[in-house]
Amino acid sequence: MKLTRASKNGRPLLGAHMSIAGGLPRAVERGLRVDCTALQIFTKSSNQWKARELGEEEMAAFRAAVEESPIGFVVAHDSYLINLASPDEELWEKSVKAFILEIRRCADLGVPVLVLHPGAHKNTGEGAGLKRISRALNRAHSETSDCPVTTALETHAGQGTTLGHRFEHLRDILAGLNNPQRAAVCFDTCHVFAAGYPIHTDEGWNETLEAFDERVGLDRLACVHVNDSKKGLGCRVDRHAGLGQGEMGLLPFWHLVNDPRTRDLPMVLETPKGEDLAEDVVNLGILRSLAGGDRP
Ligand SMILES: [Zn+2]
Ligand SMILES: [Zn+2]
Repeated sequence: MKLTRASKNGRPLLGAHMSIAGGLPRAVERGLRVDCTALQIFTKSSNQWKARELGEEEMAAFRAAVEESPIGFVVAHDSYLINLASPDEELWEKSVKAFILEIRRCADLGVPVLVLHPGAHKNTGEGAGLKRISRALNRAHSETSDCPVTTALETHAGQGTTLGHRFEHLRDILAGLNNPQRAAVCFDTCHVFAAGYPIHTDEGWNETLEAFDERVGLDRLACVHVNDSKKGLGCRVDRHAGLGQGEMGLLPFWHLVNDPRTRDLPMVLETPKGEDLAEDVVNLGILRSLAGGDRP
């Protein structure tokens, strides 16, 4: 499986998650302010079930803004409330329906990839939780067979009973899919480190990528979330930090933008920032200078 990536003007696909406050086209404007060539958005409020109806005009304006911009890759992130591993039948059903709506929104907006948190099993066991995620994805994929949208399972930090913090989890979810070509993986550097994979050393970086390739396959990678971690290796806590501001150092980010296995992937920051986006400028600058630069 190879996802098509449009790199406009041959520039690497680097960007950040941007707020859609004020309407979807505003996310593109924000991205352009910090020279993004990749962009991540929520297509709706991330902490509410309710989804504001999107008008045809707003959707067309978003598609046109992306089209006219140097942005070559857009990804959406699903709502934090969705739990496709939920043992509560009602919540599971609600989650699947909300997830299907998000896939449809992505199709309407011309967004080719929707990243999802795999879900939390709530003390009902990993195996049962993983099966519920596969079942949810099978239903979502079959009900959206007309939507050219890839669903990308995100590597997770492993907080509480959340799944996806072992590459084996992703392997097992993918193995349960009727249409595995509808699914991919989003590699979050902070989450992988927090889950205990030592990507902050040369050896650890290589071993982690090899383990990922063996269990999941590097060709399944749709995109990368580029985040440093406020907490240490194996902490199982999800706290993002600016690049070089956390516990990971700059080495994994140097590997990321130089290793032939990862350097061409679309990358988006999810690092803390203020309204003026100054931190995005700094972090994107770090990534651009690491690419082709000396080992830190
Ligand atoms: Zn992430
Ligand atoms: Zn996170």
